[in-house]
Amino acid sequence: MPVRATKRGSERTPLAGSWDVVVCGASFAGLTVARELAGGGARVLVLDRYEIGEKQTSACAAPTEWLEHLGLAGSVRQTFGELVINTPMKRFRWGLPFTFSTFDYRDLCTLLWAQCGDAEFETATVAGRSAGENGAVVVHSDRGDVQAPLVVDALGWRRVLSTRAQRIQPPNARLSRGLEVHPQGAGEDLEIWLDPQYIGPGYSWSFPAGDELRVGVGSFDPRIHVKDPTVALAEHLDLPAEAYQGNWIPHQMRDPVEDGVFFAGDSAGHCLPVTAEGIRPAFYFGVACGRELRRVLDGRQTREQALERYAAFCEDKRYAWRWMLRVQHMVGRINPYPAMTSMLEAMSHTRFVRWSFSHYLDICPPQYALPAPGAEPAAAAQSRTIR
Ligand SMILES: Cc1cc2nc3c(=O)[nH]c(=O)nc-3n(C[C@H](O)[C@H](O)[C@H](O)COP(=O)(O)OP(=O)(O)OC[C@H]3O[C@@H](n4cnc5c(N)ncnc54)[C@H](O)[C@@H]3O)c2cc1C
Repeated sequence: MPVRATKRGSERTPLAGSWDVVVCGASFAGLTVARELAGGGARVLVLDRYEIGEKQTSACAAPTEWLEHLGLAGSVRQTFGELVINTPMKRFRWGLPFTFSTFDYRDLCTLLWAQCGDAEFETATVAGRSAGENGAVVVHSDRGDVQAPLVVDALGWRRVLSTRAQRIQPPNARLSRGLEVHPQGAGEDLEIWLDPQYIGPGYSWSFPAGDELRVGVGSFDPRIHVKDPTVALAEHLDLPAEAYQGNWIPHQMRDPVEDGVFFAGDSAGHCLPVTAEGIRPAFYFGVACGRELRRVLDGRQTREQALERYAAFCEDKRYAWRWMLRVQHMVGRINPYPAMTSMLEAMSHTRFVRWSFSHYLDICPPQYALPAPGAEPAAAAQSRTIR
């Protein structure tokens, strides 16, 4: 687990000034946005309450192709071509049409940051925002106010820069909850459990990552606590329940733009329902958001056009999230009963598994990460004035 490295006390000097872009949040979504801006000459500031890569925010499993296309293969710890599904009655082994890899969070963030060019990074806790002069957005932090015409909230499920944040507070909001332990150990398989002894509406997992395992439980119902089942699963696997990591997980899309601010990743509810796979969507929408910002900085569109285009891009994908949410409700209802095993049996044909998982990957296809930033056609206009 990462060691705390964030500056404290007198080391937290005042912070103020103006940038072209302020990206709030230096995890999957935020760093991907900043990466898209590299080499464009813009002044970009990235803020996070922790040092880059300091605090792991997930079990860190993602489709390998996405990691490769983003230049992050160096962070991979283990790769899996199969998914093992355990029910109380049967163990299924599905061959996937693509591979998933677990990775080291700190290494991945370091590799992403290395691609962010001249972007600056500061540790600061973001508290909110207000309107500045000439359309600028002022971001308030514990170290002072910074401002930019282009501001991104990639701060995770809390959606700190929203003024409507009260709607997304647990336990009444559209959130799942996840908790895992990270004991030392090794495993061969990417495994999940659809087993009501751990959780009814939800699933449990064990993701090996080299010399550690990430073992946890996710509940689709925010009112159901997951600590006891997480401990029970770890005990069942003969592993110590140590090094906890957990969070809320949005399972419904939220507005991708609000009052001139862009939202990407969990802050925009981009995590996929059912699987709680949020890293790939954070990359996907991070790239989309970054490309729109880049077009503004290159003088190819106004901020308002970028907001509109990004919102339309997100809206275009909303149907897939709606479908996945329906499946999530269905899994939640069936999981407590033996019918879940029968359903998995019916789904276990190789052709069906390959077809369904290929469609699943296509929700946020890895090819979208290509070409790398800066490989796009040269800017049509010279002016970098933001209108
Ligand atoms: C237990 C668990 C396991 C998971 N496993 C997987 C998995 O294996 N694969 C997968 O695809 N998804 C997984 N997810 C979902 C995934 O973690 C999220 O969808 C993903 O992290 C979203 O990325 P993000 O960049 O939007 O937000 P985050 O990764 O949450 O990053 C938000 C960033 O903002 C910073 N921040 C937050 N508030 C402030 C503030 N006020 N001021 C400054 N900085 C702030 C945080 O420090 C953090 O760096 C898991 C979730 C949980 C809870």
